[in-house]
Amino acid sequence: MSKIRIATTSLAGCFGCHMSFLDMDERLVALLEHVEFNRSPFTDIKHCGPCDIGLIEGGVCNVENVHVLREFRDNCKILIAVGACAINGGVPAMRNHFNLRECLEEAYVNGVGVVNPQIPNDVELPLLLDKVHPIHDVVRVDYYLPGCPPSADAFLNILGDLLAGKEPSLPNNLLHYD
Ligand code: SF4
Repeated sequence: MSKIRIATTSLAGCFGCHMSFLDMDERLVALLEHVEFNRSPFTDIKHCGPCDIGLIEGGVCNVENVHVLREFRDNCKILIAVGACAINGGVPAMRNHFNLRECLEEAYVNGVGVVNPQIPNDVELPLLLDKVHPIHDVVRVDYYLPGCPPSADAFLNILGDLLAGKEPSLPNNLLHYD
């Protein structure tokens, strides 16, 4: 039987959700008998190819996030918003209480210890969006896996259900938002 293809990415995330995924520890070995990874921080694949499942960590804070997220939506049959940031913007969305210029000036001009103050403007840098968005503001999302981060057991639960062809359901003991 061919393996289920999974792609993962971190947009405006902290990689904590990926770390939690790796918290499966030795259970990853058994999982890898059934799944293979496409584009992911776990691999060296640069673009998302056709996949069964896309796991998205992080909200959307810049134009590159939008581009990557759309690539995942175009290529993944099932897209899962993983963690608080992807679901509602998470802690990074606290910047939505300020305007973007205030944030940039606080970090690069008026911040403690800033030397040679200037707001970075190299064309290589992705432009920030005015606000941080949950991923469902940009693309359709099939499932939400809450938590900051979700536990390894929660990842195993949702993937186990999907691998078995079942509608995912999280038991209460794995359902949390913190
Ligand atoms: S949900 Fe929490 S752990 Fe996951 S990327 Fe956001 S801040 Fe990090």
